Amino acid sequence: MVKTCLNESTLTAANGLDHFCFYPHLLIMEKMILTDEEWRQRLSPEQFHVLREAGTERAFTGSLNAEYRDGEFYCAGCNSKLFEAETKFDSGCGWPSFTAPTQTEAVTEIVDLSHGMQRTEVRCSTCDGHLGHVFPDGPGENGLRYCMNSASLSFEAKED
Ligand SMILES: [Zn+2]
Repeated sequence: MVKTCLNESTLTAANGLDHFCFYPHLLIMEKMILTDEEWRQRLSPEQFHVLREAGTERAFTGSLNAEYRDGEFYCAGCNSKLFEAETKFDSGCGWPSFTAPTQTEAVTEIVDLSHGMQRTEVRCSTCDGHLGHVFPDGPGENGLRYCMNSASLSFEAKED
C-alpha cells in the first residue's frame, strides 16, 4: 500500500505534530476539527485534559475500568465507535483494556517519546483525541493491549 505523508497545518496547530502520515484509504473518513474553545464547551474538564492535552486519568479511578456488560465503546469527543465489549479484558492495570479496536481505521497510532519512554500513543482517527497507549503484552492473538482512559470513552450497553 502506498503511504502518503504531508504537512497538515490544522493538526500541527492542534497537537504539535510537524509531520502527519496516513494511508490513502483513511481519506474517506471525515475529520472533526474544532478549536480548543469549542472542545472546552463540549467536554468536561477531565475529558478535555485527557482527549485534547493527552492527559492520563489516575489508575482505577475511571468509570469504565470495571465495565464488563455487553455493549460498545465510543469516542467521548466525537462519538465514533472505537471498541466492542467482547474485546475488553481485565488487565489489572487500572485502565479499560482492549485487545483490538472495532476497526483498525478507527484509531491512529503514533510513536510517543514523552516521559523518557518509547510508547505508542492511540488517538481517535476522526477527532484526533488522545485515547491512551497500546502495549505489546495483550492476551489476544495479536498480542496487543489497548490501554485506554475512561474519560476518552463513552459506553452504550447492549439490550438483551
Ligand atoms: Zn473522536
